[in-house]
Parts: sequence; structure tokens; C-alpha cells
Amino acid sequence: MDFNLPDTALAVQDGVRAVAAKYDNAYWSECEEAHRFPIEIFTDLGKGGWLGLNVPEQYGGGGQGLLEVAIANETLCASGGGAGTFFYVTTPGFGATTLVRHGTEEQKQAILPGIAVGDIQFCFALTEPNAGSNAIEITTSARRDGDDFLIKGQKVWISNVENADWMVAVTRTIPAAEATPRYNGFTLLLVDVKEALAAGTLSYTPIPKMGNNILCSSQVFFEDVRVPAHNVIGDIDGGFPVLWDVLNPERIIAAAGAIGAADAALAYAAKYATEREVFGRPIGANQGIQFPLAQVKAKVELARLMTRKAAWLFDQGLPCGNEANVAKLTGSQVAWEAADQAFQTLGGMAYSKEYPVERWMRDARIVKNAPVAEQLILAHIGTSMLNLPKSY
Ligand SMILES: Cc1cc2nc3c(=O)[nH]c(=O)nc-3n(C[C@H](O)[C@H](O)[C@H](O)COP(=O)(O)OP(=O)(O)OC[C@H]3O[C@@H](n4cnc5c(N)ncnc54)[C@H](O)[C@@H]3O)c2cc1C
Repeated sequence: MDFNLPDTALAVQDGVRAVAAKYDNAYWSECEEAHRFPIEIFTDLGKGGWLGLNVPEQYGGGGQGLLEVAIANETLCASGGGAGTFFYVTTPGFGATTLVRHGTEEQKQAILPGIAVGDIQFCFALTEPNAGSNAIEITTSARRDGDDFLIKGQKVWISNVENADWMVAVTRTIPAAEATPRYNGFTLLLVDVKEALAAGTLSYTPIPKMGNNILCSSQVFFEDVRVPAHNVIGDIDGGFPVLWDVLNPERIIAAAGAIGAADAALAYAAKYATEREVFGRPIGANQGIQFPLAQVKAKVELARLMTRKAAWLFDQGLPCGNEANVAKLTGSQVAWEAADQAFQTLGGMAYSKEYPVERWMRDARIVKNAPVAEQLILAHIGTSMLNLPKSY
């Protein structure tokens, strides 16, 4: 058993760290306050090839795997972006992973080279007002119209629509009530976002939100969005296995980002606790400050191991559902616990926007609820790993 990261992943750590070093906490805070996409660092990462790691070399990418993408996101989030740095999930995750594993040759040639250099961005549209955890209940439909599909329905909380060139839209070509088994009748379609917006058939409304404001999360409305049939990813009616194959990497990349965010919060808190003196000694010498930070640090290292294992399994083509869920559960928990403990460490100053901790805390909280809520992961662990009865 070899726990060392491969040279490819070590090179990713060095490369992403070098890019991220040019962007300090003030940069991320400014983007978050202004609700603007961090296009400068995104462009730099694209130019360096750090966004196309999992794109095969024949399409201009790094020819690597999910492990390297996870390491890139962990490193980026550890640099100060916090858990709000969603763009490794949206584009290398939803975009590249989906197309590499399930796209047609035509789709790959058209899109992957743009992802590899950071010219193309993605969003992923699954959640609906009445179907979040219960994704099987989605009602957004795609109906055949000659050589095309027409998508009609509504999605909610869709992140990055405003920057996206392409959307992976999860639709039903057979309504849930008529599908046997019920997971039959899912069809995943590639929507040209800019074209559909220009046609007026697609529209979106950003949802004012508590954190993660470097990109929007929006309500999205489909009014007969026209999509050519050759934009189907996977099989018509048979999209459910593709969906699951996309959700595992999403969980792994999100877990890696959460762990990076925990690293950032712990490093910041440890530095502050070493420098800040109260009662004539650094506050970090007090066990009331030191031990909670140490406890979270131990949990972070455990979550990191599981996240890397899950990514490795995925890259080997082995089942990784249990590991991806455990990684997402523990990664999101340590992101929150680290931010909370950093907040406690900074005392009153934690509440000031001059310091990044309040931003990291706002960013980290949602990772326990999305992309998949903690209870649903526990339900998966209960049923799949402990054979307990199902509640969902
Ligand atoms: C900032 C943000 C960004 C997002 N980005 C995207 C995106 O890009 N694309 C996309 O498709 N979606 C996105 N989402 C949606 C996200 O995936 C959902 O919010 C998430 O899956 C939870 O669904 P829900 O909000 O409908 O909660 P619900 O399904 O309504 O659940 C509410 C609560 O009930 C609990 N619950 C439900 N059933 C059970 C049960 N059987 N046992 C125990 N507890 C249960 C849940 O765990 C949860 O805590 C985003 C959400 C947010 C907040």
C-alpha cells in the first residue's frame, strides 16, 4: 500500500499553489463582496493547464484523473478561496468528467479542448423546486420534435449559469409516474446556454444567498429550449446511471475543496493564536484554544485520506460510491468545524470583515447541505454500508 501522492498530483499541488500565491485573501474577499467571478485566477489557472487536468491529452488536456482535479481544488481552496471556490466542481467536474466518460466523439472534440484551456465553462442543472434530495421526482421534460428535443420546466439553485457556455440539463423523457422502474426515463442533454439565452427560451434569476458569492446560484426557466438530439449524453431514457457516475466525482471534488477550506481556516487560526498574546502569553498555548484546533486537524487528515482513496478508486474504474459519500460527509463537517473553531480563536475580530474567517464560515456552512445534504449521505451509509432499512 503506497500512500504517497503520485508525481502528477505533486506537480498539481506545486502548480496550483504557485498560481494561487498571486491572489491573497483580500482578493477573494473583494470578489465575494462584489459578487463577481474571480476571472483573473480562473484565467491564470486555465493558461497553466490546471483546469484541464482530467481532459485527455488528445483534446489538449493533462491526461490525468480525478485525483489530480481533487488535489487542484484542495490546493486552491486552501489558498484562501475557501469552500466557495466552486469552479472545479462545475467545469472539470460536471463538464469534463461527464463528457470524457459518456460523451460522443463529436461532443468531446467540440468541447473538451475549450475546457482544457479555461475557455469553456459549465453548469449542471438537476435540482428543482420539488426535487432536491429526491432527484427521482424531477419533472423538467424533454420531448422529441423532429431531430431535436424541447426542454420545458424549472430548476433551482443552479450554480454558474451566468458564466456557463454549456449546461448539463437533467430531464425526464418519461415522467416519474409512468416510468418502470422509476429511475428509467432520465435523459441528460447538453444545452448551449448562450444560444438558448439569446433565443429567449432559457432565462435565470440569481438567488440572493448567504455566501459563495463568487458565482451565482439561480432559478432557471426552460420554455421549450431547443436542443439537437446529438446533444444527448449517454442514452435517451437511460441517463440515470450517467447521473450517478457524475454525482460521485462531484462529491469527491467538493470534499477536496472543503478539506482545503479547513486547511486554510486552521492555518489562519494557528498563526493568529501564535501571535495574539492575552494574559502575557500566546492564546495558542492555552489548551482551550489549542486542543479544539488539534482535534479538527486530526479529523481533516482522516477526511483527506478518504477523499484521496475515493478519487483513486474512481480513476481505477472501481466502485467508489461509499467512499465518495464518506469523503463528502467528513469533508463538509471538517470545513465547518475548522471555520467555527477559527472563528472562536479570533475572538471579536472574527466578526470583522477585515478578516477572512467570517467569509470562510459562511462558505463552509452550505457544504453540509449541498451538493447533497448530510442526512442523505448518512442514509446512504446506513443502507449501503450497514444494510439498514431505507427511508428514501
Ligand atoms: C449554494 C448552492 C448551490 C447549489 N448548486 C447546485 C447546482 O449547481 N446544480 C444543482 O442541480 N443543484 C444545486 N444545488 C442544490 C442542492 O443540490 C440541493 O439543495 C440539495 O440536494 C438538497 O436539496 P433540497 O435543498 O431540495 O433539500 P430537501 O430535499 O428539501 O431536504 C431538506 C432537508 O430534509 C432532509 N431530508 C430529506 N429527506 C430525508 C430523509 N429521508 N431522511 C433524513 N433527512 C431527510 C435533507 O437532508 C435536508 O436537510 C445547490 C444548492 C445550494 C444551496
